[in-house]
Amino acid sequence: MNLDTVYKSIDQMADDFKSQQIEIFRWLHQHPELAYQEFETSQYIREHLEKLQGLEISSIAKTGIKAVLQGGKPGPNIAIRADMDALPVKEETGLPYASNVKTDYDGQETHVAHVCGHDASTAAALGTVTVLSQLKDELPGNVVFLFQPAEEGAPTGTDGGALRMVGEGALKDPDVQAIFGFHANNTCYPGQVMIREGPTHASQDSIIIRIWGEQAHGSQPWSGKDPIVAGASLINSLQTLISREVDLQKGAAVITVGYFWSGIKVNIIPEGAEMGLTVRSLDEDNREILITRIKELAELKAEMHGCQAEVIFGQHYPMNINQEELYDAMLPTVERVAQAKNVLYYLSSTKSEDFSHFSSEVPGLYMYYGAAPQDRPLSEAKPNHHPEFMVDEKALKFATRLECNLIYDALRTI
Ligand SMILES: [Zn+2]
Ligand SMILES: [Zn+2]
Repeated sequence: MNLDTVYKSIDQMADDFKSQQIEIFRWLHQHPELAYQEFETSQYIREHLEKLQGLEISSIAKTGIKAVLQGGKPGPNIAIRADMDALPVKEETGLPYASNVKTDYDGQETHVAHVCGHDASTAAALGTVTVLSQLKDELPGNVVFLFQPAEEGAPTGTDGGALRMVGEGALKDPDVQAIFGFHANNTCYPGQVMIREGPTHASQDSIIIRIWGEQAHGSQPWSGKDPIVAGASLINSLQTLISREVDLQKGAAVITVGYFWSGIKVNIIPEGAEMGLTVRSLDEDNREILITRIKELAELKAEMHGCQAEVIFGQHYPMNINQEELYDAMLPTVERVAQAKNVLYYLSSTKSEDFSHFSSEVPGLYMYYGAAPQDRPLSEAKPNHHPEFMVDEKALKFATRLECNLIYDALRTI
């Protein structure tokens, strides 16, 4: 087959799969599952994959699936990540196939819904594997499909899905040379793509700071050491790290104290206080400064007030960087599939995305495809995680075409 025939076959096969893909999407939408509980989703994906030709399927990261499609010609190994998990949110879209699922989350009953569009990620990738498996003899290299659990944060004490997949060899055997990530986005319409070169998502560090003082009667503070005063003073100083110590020209940075707990009664100065921070940075040097200085400041502020600080560094997501070389190589494909006028450029975000665990191991490219309902103004499309978030089903076939073309061109050219 010549190039043009392959591209035309992709379009035709994506079109042939369209109604089955919508059925798949609706099934996934009605069967949302939380992080590391994606048992039915995983089984459903596996059953679909087992019907296709040329795939080596294995389980990974508890509920994840890795499927390797052997191409008919020699070439590189290109991976695609599709996330599978849903969120503890009550869906309020009013769609005929809306989710009514409830489950247990951290010991509490909660509704579950695909309000981040990971049902679309999965349905799109299932389209892609279906199309490419029919073209496997034409593929100059192999494709690694990674169906990932727990993108939306893992239960406390466990690693998120991407980190765990990398740890369990998602990018090895075969050794992956580049990875793509795709996500539905409601700030543009089906047929549009949002892409960006360089840093796209901030690094994220969770930090817990405990300040230990000395308990005293609230009427006689001089007889104790007050961890609340020390903590309050620290919270104010933390923001000066952002405004005075990091070079914001290199990239945005954020420190948020998400909680500050202490004490039990108005007339008791408590023994300790605890705060939890999230730290975001779009520059690695800035992140280093913040991490170092947060610890120093916590210790200094505690000492100033006669207390002691304990600083605990928790979960870390690296920045996601769309590698320049891969971006340059793939932009023409995106422009061919979507037409240049439909390629939009997004701002780097202070949110994080665990795709970064893959893209810090091998060159990565993460992009969004438009999914806002076409029958209404963009201003009425609800953002991800909103109870009324919904994906226009026209986005699915387009996403599959985009994914197939990018993977095929990457196999040919990198
Ligand atoms: Zn999300
Ligand atoms: Zn998401």
